[in-house]
Amino acid sequence: MTITTRFAPSPTGYLHIGGARTALYSWLHAKASGGRFVLRIEDTDRERSTDEAVQAILDAMEWLDLEHDGEIYYQTKRFDRYAEVIDWLLAEGKAYRCYSTAEEVEAMREAARAKGEKPKYDGTWRPMPGKTLPEPPEGVDPVIRFATPLDGETVIHDMVKGDITISNTELDDLVIARADGTPTYNFCVVVDDMDMAISHIIRGDDHVNNTPRQINILKALIGDFAELPVYAHVPMILGADGKRLSKRHGAVGVMRYREEGYLPGALLNYLVRLGWAHGDQEIFTREQMLEHFDIEHVQGGASTFDPDKLLWVNQEHLKMAAPEDLVGELRWHLARLGIEDVDDTRLAEIAAIQKGRCKTVLEMAEQTLFVFQPVTEYEPKAVKKHVKAATPDLLAQVRDGLAKLDEWTGEAASAVVKQVSADNEVGMGKVAQPIRIAVTGGPVSPSIDDTLVLLGRDETLARLDAAVAAFASEPG
Ligand code: GLU
Repeated sequence: MTITTRFAPSPTGYLHIGGARTALYSWLHAKASGGRFVLRIEDTDRERSTDEAVQAILDAMEWLDLEHDGEIYYQTKRFDRYAEVIDWLLAEGKAYRCYSTAEEVEAMREAARAKGEKPKYDGTWRPMPGKTLPEPPEGVDPVIRFATPLDGETVIHDMVKGDITISNTELDDLVIARADGTPTYNFCVVVDDMDMAISHIIRGDDHVNNTPRQINILKALIGDFAELPVYAHVPMILGADGKRLSKRHGAVGVMRYREEGYLPGALLNYLVRLGWAHGDQEIFTREQMLEHFDIEHVQGGASTFDPDKLLWVNQEHLKMAAPEDLVGELRWHLARLGIEDVDDTRLAEIAAIQKGRCKTVLEMAEQTLFVFQPVTEYEPKAVKKHVKAATPDLLAQVRDGLAKLDEWTGEAASAVVKQVSADNEVGMGKVAQPIRIAVTGGPVSPSIDDTLVLLGRDETLARLDAAVAAFASEPG
């Protein structure tokens, strides 16, 4: 049997952290065994679904590189299919038309509550052997209800939570099509899972209550003895305050993490560990996740989102990344900061230098801006503090030393700086700080050798020349 999982977001907002983890677990479970991963957009709630949200979800899935197999399914494009299945259920006597008004249904529920029972539809329109149904009222469009088994129990074999047993008497005769003919959520999910041959349903545990209803409908469609999908209900993610993760806890949309400079692989790594462990290993590549992830070892209790740990995981991923693999994200961040058209080789050089000293790609980009922005001004405070009468001459000596280098490396550049400070019997800082101000306009930049390597020879020499001229007129 091919393992087939699905991710079935409702497009009512961005892809949030919890959704991304569900998608990841589903993707891993399928891909680890060479199975299929289906993406299905559950957009039947037309009031709450938007095209922007669909796009936001697709963008996030692409950024995370959780690739789906085959077409993307949209429930709104499957109404004919749902209607066909409803007709079949009606013909089989497994569903029925119900003409009760909303007020009548509410009164039935009230009556059940008064008797201390679960509020339920009372079955007025449900056909039963030997029962005569009321005459359908004129001009009333019926809803369609599913004839839930009247006795017995439904067992969910859940890979995370274990077996969950529900007595069918607890379950209502669910409305599967509204009076206007539109199918309802729980029904569409079942038809889809059946048609798409989903073998493993991995989703948030906020859906546990839907599962027995869905199982009963599915059994009505495929037969009581056909094999059901396996379920795994994944617990919630909480904020540090123990409440369900929400906007109050900061960024919850996946793409906000991109904007903040996280790597997709790092976010996935953080998410895979949120509720699952493999020994005490914290850092996982995609391949390692695929090798070790096991849905059965996902813990049953909620997990707590820890932004500091995510940042640490991101830093670890930056450190271990090949510079070429950071080019795409670095390009994206630089573009957002207004820097475009930088070639891949240059970006990889930058990544090689910055990746060990930054926690995020955003930080990498911000700390590289000086390379692309001409120095238009020297920070007056820094100049006052670090530029002295001797500075132009020291900078000129550095410039000459650098101009003579055969190879433009950090080591060679810092050897020149050391030499100049030794020759002139001044501390390194008296040379290095003015160099920083000269080439970046301010006193803060990566180490002097990294700064010069990032900038490149021509630009360094040109900026030093300009500074020597500018500082010559400083009072010192
Ligand atoms: N559309 C549902 C949601 O976004 C998921 C349904 C499912 O996985 O069965 O919560």
